[in-house]
Amino acid sequence: MNQARDTKEVFNQSPPFEDVDLFALDRPLADAVAANGGAAHAAELSEFGKHWGSVAMAERGRLANENVPKLKLFDARGNRRDEVEFHPAYHELMAHSAHAGLHNSTWNEKGETAGGASEVLRAAKFFMTAQVETGHLCPITMTRAAVGALSADPALRAKVMPVLGIRSYDPIFAPWWGKRGMTIGMGMTERQGGTDVRANTTQAVRDGDAYRISGHKWFMSAPMCDAFLVLAQAEGGLTCFFMPRFKPDGHVNAIHFQRLKDKLGNRSNASCEVEFDNAYALRLGEEGRGIATIIQMVSLTRQDCAIASAGLMRSGLAHALHHARHRAVFQKHLADQPLMRGLLADMALHVEASTALVMRLCRSFDRAPRDKVEAAYMRLLAPAVKYWICKSAPGFLYEAMECLGGNGYVEEGILARHYREAPVNAIWEGSGNVMCLDVLRALAHDREAADAVVQNLAATAKGLPGISEAVAVISNIFRQPDAERLARCAVEKLALLAATAALNEMSSQHAALFAKTRLANDHGSLYGTVDLGEDAIRKLLERALPD
Ligand SMILES: Cc1cc2nc3c(=O)[nH]c(=O)nc-3n(C[C@H](O)[C@H](O)[C@H](O)COP(=O)(O)OP(=O)(O)OC[C@H]3O[C@@H](n4cnc5c(N)ncnc54)[C@H](O)[C@@H]3O)c2cc1C
Repeated sequence: MNQARDTKEVFNQSPPFEDVDLFALDRPLADAVAANGGAAHAAELSEFGKHWGSVAMAERGRLANENVPKLKLFDARGNRRDEVEFHPAYHELMAHSAHAGLHNSTWNEKGETAGGASEVLRAAKFFMTAQVETGHLCPITMTRAAVGALSADPALRAKVMPVLGIRSYDPIFAPWWGKRGMTIGMGMTERQGGTDVRANTTQAVRDGDAYRISGHKWFMSAPMCDAFLVLAQAEGGLTCFFMPRFKPDGHVNAIHFQRLKDKLGNRSNASCEVEFDNAYALRLGEEGRGIATIIQMVSLTRQDCAIASAGLMRSGLAHALHHARHRAVFQKHLADQPLMRGLLADMALHVEASTALVMRLCRSFDRAPRDKVEAAYMRLLAPAVKYWICKSAPGFLYEAMECLGGNGYVEEGILARHYREAPVNAIWEGSGNVMCLDVLRALAHDREAADAVVQNLAATAKGLPGISEAVAVISNIFRQPDAERLARCAVEKLALLAATAALNEMSSQHAALFAKTRLANDHGSLYGTVDLGEDAIRKLLERALPD
């Protein structure tokens, strides 16, 4: 006979997935870091993983998203303020990320690439941070990336680096040159065009050594940054500018926020509409070279979009697995139910491949300055990786959310937030189609180098199922005069091929399984629609989250 239970007793609920080491619990991440040059940093990453996996950091993430930023246009006396107020938890997240160097550690004190495995090390930290709170990573990633564009003006970069290079966050609203730490945002998108920035109407007029900028931006995120890299039309064409919040005389610059966007996700981060009314700015790079200048920033923010989306998926997987190991249905834990095991293992395979691929991409960023082969890999693969990883994240997080049943759908858990957050990484910094067009652009720019990248990937993954067929599809589409129409087919295959190669390069026992199920097309349209075999399922689940 069943024992009567107190109806108020709470049982069979999974405990929170908190106070964990986000690095030590993630074998695929540790292996990918080690395989791509970061083995020496394991202890540092474990410290970082414990810190960001703590209850305190999770709580900061929750608070920063529940208490969204507020626009303060005027003070009580009617003076313009153009400030955005954030919850203290947001500032704390910024401080923790800045302290870890997420906004500057891939640069040396001069603003040149730091070398070593600095990209891989930072990427691993960024990947873990994204599992806790992604909104604040917007200004963090833009600041890091802006240094790439600042190389167009070494004198300006030399002035900025002593402030930007400090591992601290200074939220005070004051001129950047007197602060301890600074952040930089970006203003490209206007009402009439985001992808097509050549349609920008914002005007720049020379004024002595500087320029006066008038016009608007339809999206400008992290408006409390200390400066922005802004595109505007100068006499010589579309040009990039460095626009600080304060003018050299210490007065507030004429950067007038109009309103904050009411967004699906990314709620801890403010994104504004803004008007410039003869705003002071310095030219960055030559007139007419605006896109070429700012693309140095954008290629780095694209890399971070892919890292963050892979991190979001990892978090979804970890929460789903953790829940399944604690939640019993029909007298058996979910993690022991064959159907759930097959689903979770298939999801684990996707995350393992995404993690391997994104860390391999970061290795190419580390080595590109001194290695032509790696530079070609970076150029061709960066848009393909952003495309595939960022676009797969929303569907993946939906599946992870469902693994938690109703608990996954409510705001008290982190998965609802992750799910709302996921699409933005595919939209901003170049949307899906634009990434595919960028792969074609890389191809058109240096066909030989791109072909060599594909051949190298094939050689690295040699003998695995579906490799030669994938190479044939990619090469065939890339050769066609109407390649644009089929670009998604080729770019997806390219990303899958690169993921297989990345897994194989790190001797993953799952490279063949990934190739068989993703490249040889032995897979249905949803997760869990493939026979992975019980042995592989067990190994995938153990690696994803040691019991
Ligand atoms: C939360 C958020 C924050 C943002 N923050 C910033 C910021 O700080 N600074 C900034 O400058 N911008 C920012 N943006 C803007 C963002 O970068 C743009 O929205 C994005 O680049 C797309 O531009 P768009 O909105 O004008 O869309 P469009 O350019 O109109 O594109 C619409 C769709 O058409 C597709 N498309 C475009 N061209 C082609 C083509 N030739 N062939 C086939 N398909 C095509 C695109 O892939 C996209 O899916 C932000 C956006 C969001 C959502």
